[in-house]
Amino acid sequence: MNRQAIETVGVRFTGRAALDRDPQEDRVEFTCPHCGHRGTKGARRARTRYHFTDGFVQDLQGELTTCRNCRNSLRVVPVVMLHDENEKRRFQAVFSGELTGVNN
Ligand SMILES: [Zn+2]
Repeated sequence: MNRQAIETVGVRFTGRAALDRDPQEDRVEFTCPHCGHRGTKGARRARTRYHFTDGFVQDLQGELTTCRNCRNSLRVVPVVMLHDENEKRRFQAVFSGELTGVNN
């Protein structure tokens, strides 16, 4: 087995959730579970690869990237697409346990 990439949840803002940013800038945001560094990467996967799962539009295949801080391989999965503040809040409630556990 090869060294496995660490998995982390990614978020892709779109629609009203992305109003405050450049519309050309379609990025996936994630937090490195290894060092806690917040990173972004260009969203590679077409929106048609995203499917409605568990109340969110998600890409369950995910994307591979490398943390710019600690250089660990990361697998950003699932990538959750969020359209507005409501979804953002709902996402944070549902995934807060998986988002590095910083609050513990
Ligand atoms: Zn890192």
